[in-house]
Amino acid sequence: MIEVENLVKAFGSKRAVDGITFTVRNGEIYGLLGPNGSGKSTTMKILAGILRPTSGKVIVENVNVAEDPLEVRRIVGYVPETPVLYESLTPVEFFNFVGSVREIPREELQERVETFVRAFGIESYLGEMIGSLSFGTRQKVSLISAMLHDPKVLILDEAMNGLDPKSARILRELLLQFREEGRSIVFSTHVLALAETICDRVGVIYNGEIIAEGTVEQLKEFAHEESLEDVFLKLT
Ligand code: ADP
Ligand code: MG
Repeated sequence: MIEVENLVKAFGSKRAVDGITFTVRNGEIYGLLGPNGSGKSTTMKILAGILRPTSGKVIVENVNVAEDPLEVRRIVGYVPETPVLYESLTPVEFFNFVGSVREIPREELQERVETFVRAFGIESYLGEMIGSLSFGTRQKVSLISAMLHDPKVLILDEAMNGLDPKSARILRELLLQFREEGRSIVFSTHVLALAETICDRVGVIYNGEIIAEGTVEQLKEFAHEESLEDVFLKLT
C-alpha cells in the first residue's frame, strides 16, 4: 500500500508538487493523470525513492521514503518516463547487471527474464547493444528490468510510450495480473482511453495539486461528462 500525505517538492522557488495527498491500496491500479508539467513524474520519482521530498509523508509498504529510500527502491519496480539504460550493454548483460545489483537468485532471474522476453517478443534483440535499439524496444527492456525482482509495487511513468499495440496489450495484461496478486500500481498516461479501462481510481493532477479524484465513473458524474477524456479536458 502507498500513502502520500501533503507531499511537496520544490525546485528553487517552483513547487513542482504542491501538497498532494492520495492513497493506493493493495490490488489497486491508481492512474495519475495530468497535462505536461503538472508534477506527475516528480511525484513518481519520489514514490520510487530516487528523489527526496521537500516535505510531506510518503509511505510505501510500511517504509517511509524519507527515512529509508534504499529500502523503497528495493520494494518498488520503477519505469521512468525516459528509459535510463546502459547503452553499451546488451539487454542480457543489462538484465544480469540488474540481477546482481538486486541480488536476485540466478535461477529466478533466468526464469523471469525468459518469461518477459518471450512475452514482449524481444528475443532477436538480446545480443544487440541497447544504444542501437529503437525507443520501443528500449522501453520493453526498461519494463522488464523493473519487474525482475518481483516488486510489490509498480510505478510506471508513461510506460505505454513507444509500445506497439501488441506490446501495449501484453503490458496491460501483466498489470492486471499484478493487481490480481494484490500489488499496488501507480500509472501515468496520456492515453485516457486506456486509463479508463485499467485504473481502479484516478487522480487528476494540475499545477502540482490533485484537483479531482475517484473512480472513472465518479469523475464522469462529477464533471457531467461522457468520457474520461472530456473530464480531463474540462478540468485541466
Ligand atoms: P509531468 O511529469 O506532469 O509532465 P514533471 O513532474 O516532470 O511534470 O514536472 C513538474 C514541474 O517541475 C515542471 O514545471 C518542471 O519543469 C519542473 N521540474 C521537474 N523536474 C525539475 C528539476 N529537476 N529542476 C527544476 N524543475 C523541475
Ligand atoms: Mg512526466
